[in-house]
Amino acid sequence: MAKFQEAFDRLFKNFQVCRKCKSRIKAAKSKVLAGKVRCRVCHSKQLKPVRMK
Ligand SMILES: [Zn+2]
Repeated sequence: MAKFQEAFDRLFKNFQVCRKCKSRIKAAKSKVLAGKVRCRVCHSKQLKPVRMK
């Protein structure tokens, strides 16, 4: 599973999901918290990190 964890990190780290249209946006967490990132589809600022559980 260790190898898969690396792959997941690469795929989901720094990715955010739009709460409105569920599209994925690649953005650093610091930028999201600073409000500098918007969804490119619906221009919403409501983003959440991708969670795999
Ligand atoms: Zn959106």
